[in-house]
Amino acid sequence: MNTDVFASRHIGITEKDLRTMFEIVGVESMDQLIHETIPNDIKLKQRLNLPAGVSENDFLTHIQELADKNKVFKTYIGLGYHESLLPSVIKRNILENPGWYTAYTPYQAEIAQGRLEALLNFQTMVSDLTGMELANASLLDESTAAAEAMTMMLDLRSRQQKKDGALKFFVSEEILPQTLSLLKTRSTPLGIELVIGNHETFEFTSEFYGALLQYPGKHGQVHDYAEFVQHAKANEIKVAVAADILSLVKLKAPGEWGVDVVVGTTQRFGIPLGYGGPHAGYFATKEAYKRSIPGRIIGITKDTDGNPALRMALQTREQHIKRDKATSNICTAQVLLAVMAGMYAVYHGPEGLKYIANKVHNHTKLLANTLAANGFEQINSTYFDTIQVRVKDAVKLKETTERHQININYVDEDTVSISLNEAVSTEDIKTLVSCFTEATLTQDHSEVIPESLKRTSPFLEHEVFNSYHSETELMRYIKKLERKDLALNHSMISLGSCTMKLNAASEMLPLSWANWGNIHPFVPLDQAQGYQEVLNELESQLNVITGFAATSLQPNSGAQGEYAGLMTIKAYHESRNEGHRNICLIPASAHGTNPASAVMAGMKVVVTKTDEHGNIDVSDLEEKAALHSENLAALMVTYPSTHGVFESSIKHITKVIHDHGGQVYMDGANMNAQVGLTNPATIGADVCHLNLHKTFAIPHGGGGPGVGPICVAEQLKPFLPGNPVVSTGGSQAITAISAAPWGSALACLISYGYIKMLGAEGLTDATKIAILNANYIKDRLKGKFDVLYTGERGRAAHEMIIDCRPFKAHGIEVTDIAKRLMDYGFHAPTVSFPVAGTIMIEPTESESLAELDRFCEAMISIREEIDEAHQNEPNNVLKNAPHTLAMVTNDDWDFPYSRQKAAFPLAYVSENKFWPSIRRTDEAFGDRNLICTCAPIEAYAEA
Ligand SMILES: *Cc1c(COP(=O)(O)O)cnc(C)c1O
Repeated sequence: MNTDVFASRHIGITEKDLRTMFEIVGVESMDQLIHETIPNDIKLKQRLNLPAGVSENDFLTHIQELADKNKVFKTYIGLGYHESLLPSVIKRNILENPGWYTAYTPYQAEIAQGRLEALLNFQTMVSDLTGMELANASLLDESTAAAEAMTMMLDLRSRQQKKDGALKFFVSEEILPQTLSLLKTRSTPLGIELVIGNHETFEFTSEFYGALLQYPGKHGQVHDYAEFVQHAKANEIKVAVAADILSLVKLKAPGEWGVDVVVGTTQRFGIPLGYGGPHAGYFATKEAYKRSIPGRIIGITKDTDGNPALRMALQTREQHIKRDKATSNICTAQVLLAVMAGMYAVYHGPEGLKYIANKVHNHTKLLANTLAANGFEQINSTYFDTIQVRVKDAVKLKETTERHQININYVDEDTVSISLNEAVSTEDIKTLVSCFTEATLTQDHSEVIPESLKRTSPFLEHEVFNSYHSETELMRYIKKLERKDLALNHSMISLGSCTMKLNAASEMLPLSWANWGNIHPFVPLDQAQGYQEVLNELESQLNVITGFAATSLQPNSGAQGEYAGLMTIKAYHESRNEGHRNICLIPASAHGTNPASAVMAGMKVVVTKTDEHGNIDVSDLEEKAALHSENLAALMVTYPSTHGVFESSIKHITKVIHDHGGQVYMDGANMNAQVGLTNPATIGADVCHLNLHKTFAIPHGGGGPGVGPICVAEQLKPFLPGNPVVSTGGSQAITAISAAPWGSALACLISYGYIKMLGAEGLTDATKIAILNANYIKDRLKGKFDVLYTGERGRAAHEMIIDCRPFKAHGIEVTDIAKRLMDYGFHAPTVSFPVAGTIMIEPTESESLAELDRFCEAMISIREEIDEAHQNEPNNVLKNAPHTLAMVTNDDWDFPYSRQKAAFPLAYVSENKFWPSIRRTDEAFGDRNLICTCAPIEAYAEA
């Protein structure tokens, strides 16, 4: 074994296993399997034009060299991004811990109570600090959260049938530039008219439905908006506020002035800057709007035994269900970062946060006073952490600050702003001042925050924020939560469409390094040369893999990529005076985010049928394309299909769309079945998104971080999204899709490392083994479970759908199988997507033959249990699953099967038992009695 070959670590199947597997699958060779799986006319003739893989050790040396090319300056640019101090206990036990970062989105609540609790803490923290009743967990960044507020308030307007026709939205000129750019992107397709101005002179007319304010303003002035909000209310204008979360420790909470929504980022609660992300955005609102909130809400309910249980609440709001009726397409969010930010609040508690906020504020005052005492005019009358200073010679100042390795924000020719943060020391302030003058520091204890703007209300009073302030206590609390969660460090998570593959330690290590973590997204490019090399090369790698001309790394999730891709298509049509094209064809089997994104892009969704083999019904598609020929904008197609099949008609399908003047959007969530064997350009697509957090090894993080770049053909390249602060994107760039120029740049290091270490051959082998593993499971389960769809030669792609509907005859639902798998130590595959009553299994290439076999044995054993089950006797091992330790050790045992069968159904289980921490959750009860913050247990009991 060549231990320098990373592929042999990433791929779980050995050369020796292949014989056994080929026999089960019924092929002579890998070539035969691939030949029978992928249609001939789309197969790549040449190997990927990428270098050979490098060893893990060489990669770490290489990435260290690149890290050294980034220059870590003291950065006081602000504008929504601040250096912060990630407590080492959180870094080591969460960020660097696969028990946390490899977990899946907590759909299976019984084996996800740990991260659900961590997210409930996050929601409580946000509710408390903003003064709002309800918060979600979480959104992609501050700017997209602001856009979600703008669209949610529009939706509320039409729901409440008030202000029909009012389509104007006021945006304060104090808003961050990247947020304004994003609001422009998101408002246009929906017909919202943005009016940007001064809130003090705003005229409240009936044409306005909503308004957005920034608190403190973009250059640090803290405005008193109370009066504005009052007037807005009187005129039935809803108000959202983008607020700096740390400032809320000292400033009056927006909830106390009666606003409708508060949004922002939690980056400065311990999250590395990472050249722009990933960071968790937050969104808080009133209880009355709970059914309209975008993203996920964690709520408290009870389990079968009446014990408290957490789960994702109000799931019917999700775009998976609402599809083209959805008002938001948020799927993957930034869960790992929300967990970390919430834990930062748990560790510091209210007193710790006050200390930090006071430190930041007092340092800012010290700086302001010293500069003022030396004749510099400081403009902000009320501020928290940011001051504005008039300067005579900004060019010279810039030279001086950069010589001292300091970045500040140059507002205009004679004004700068300086934003301080928790990492600033008195020494730093001395250096900063010395750039302006030779002065010594001047203390002045007068207040700069007026009484009316001071926070007086308490926050974070719940026990969880007042218990774990020593490292030992926090370490154990994190461990306690982690133990409740089944992640990839326990067993395979075979989630169809989500590609839960290895997230290698060597790919992850650089994320902890300061030279990657501590870079502000708006620093001059020459300070981020390491990042620029990684991002440029990643773009080229993805161009090669997709066959396309250009890539934008800006979108922070697959769904955001869909939206970005459709917006470039829209811009392309407009550039050809065909802006009327607005019909988007979407097959019935598409993921819910597809129709939701199309509607957000201002398109009209026309659903095309699926034939009996699960393929796109070609004649229906031809008919609809012809019918809408005049106005056809795009087709959105997932390939291989969400049914796990390489449809052989794909080239014909894409040609039909082009013949009618449309563009083809390929949803790249299933790219793991294509890399190195075929590609989106070859099938005839014009643009695709990739989920780097699926195919390209970024960990799922319990529901994010996500990176959803779009790759485009030549004709769409000019329209790739830009950024208002840093130049990026195409020559006729559309406005921003996410806040940071390169989205979640820090997480891109992982995919870069993945591609670099696997190389052309390793990437292609990974795809082949992913296909082999899926077909192996399919054939091992043959005769026990029916696979719903296969390709023309009976092959699955990299995943397959197993039909569980026939078991209804035994009274068994697909959920019972999903829950019973927990007793066997497995996370359920994807349940009821894309077909209700089925499960979709995707093993990925990273799993070993031994693990595939354990999973198959569990499934076969469950199949036998299904045979034993009877419709008239629901007290059975499947219906009662999962079995908790409390159940099995209870003195009373009145189930008609043994404890052994309940908890240790197969021999392998007892060696490595995973205990679900609760029984099944009561969804209806929880949704009726919605509790989304850390309420005391008594409150819950009374509900
Ligand atoms: C995961 C997925 C998406 C959405 O991607 P996110 O990153 O979660 O936004 C879209 N389409 C398909 C088929 C997917 O599996």
